[in-house]
Amino acid sequence: MSAAPSARPDAGGHPDDRDRLRDQLAHAARQVAELETEYEQLLADPEVIQEDRDATRLLLDHARRQLADAEHAVERLDDGSYGRCVRCGGDIGPERLAALADVTTCVRCAA
Ligand SMILES: [Zn+2]
Repeated sequence: MSAAPSARPDAGGHPDDRDRLRDQLAHAARQVAELETEYEQLLADPEVIQEDRDATRLLLDHARRQLADAEHAVERLDDGSYGRCVRCGGDIGPERLAALADVTTCVRCAA
């Protein structure tokens, strides 16, 4: 019997990071679904002005980006690169990850 892939001891990130990212992913997915429904209703309603559609459209785009970021972070957690800066390869640091769970650069490279 071999261990399940999720139990790899060398996988990056603290178990809390995984929980936080899963929460973030679920939240983002819910928001995208809600905004998609809202946007469809706005499109179908001839009384709605275009500006209102555009505003919801922007929120939807933003929510989709957050969802993609969260998915990407979970992938990084799975391949062990989570918590490492994509630019310099250095440690991002637990405080920064706690504040921005899906961040991909350390504070120096982000500056
Ligand atoms: Zn860096």
